[in-house]
Amino acid sequence: MFAPPINRLITELARFPGIGQRTAQRLAFHLLRMSDEEALALADAIREVKEKVGECERCFNLATEALCLVCQDERRDSQLLCVVEQPSDVIPVERTNEFYGRYHVLGGALSPIDGIDPEDLHLSELFERASENGVREVVVATNATTTGEATALYIADTLRERAPAVTVTRLASGLPVGSDLEYADEITLGRAMRARREL
Ligand SMILES: [Zn+2]
Repeated sequence: MFAPPINRLITELARFPGIGQRTAQRLAFHLLRMSDEEALALADAIREVKEKVGECERCFNLATEALCLVCQDERRDSQLLCVVEQPSDVIPVERTNEFYGRYHVLGGALSPIDGIDPEDLHLSELFERASENGVREVVVATNATTTGEATALYIADTLRERAPAVTVTRLASGLPVGSDLEYADEITLGRAMRARREL
């Protein structure tokens, strides 16, 4: 239906999460309407992140130097680690302003069905960090999904063995702020009930 270069652009755009064919077409036509300068600035920005952004050698968060900004910050508590699945999970935790420790990014979650085993994630590095550097608490903030929960249990079991002095905690799950009890699903409500706290 379109000339090959336009088709190619639509195909590439449609790879983005949440972008279907129609949205990809709209974005492609938007790019065609933009000035050369604006459109090429986008191409350049993509090239620059791919060239300059890598992984922090300590925590595997995104970094433009050997260490990420969190690992470079001396004021952060290095005895407190928060384990997340992806670098994008660091941002929501940072936004809470409730966490002042450091991170460890696994690069995914355990999923034997998809062939993701412990050695495919940055788990051995986590166990080393937790047992060597006087770490006192590991907060497991993997997703509340089947694979995220399995990963959390694996981490807790292994740390109990390899670093018994470390306290392993899991994010509490509960009710979304501003929502009514009657709309909560029973799993969320059940967990909120189990994790209830004294007022
Ligand atoms: Zn780091």
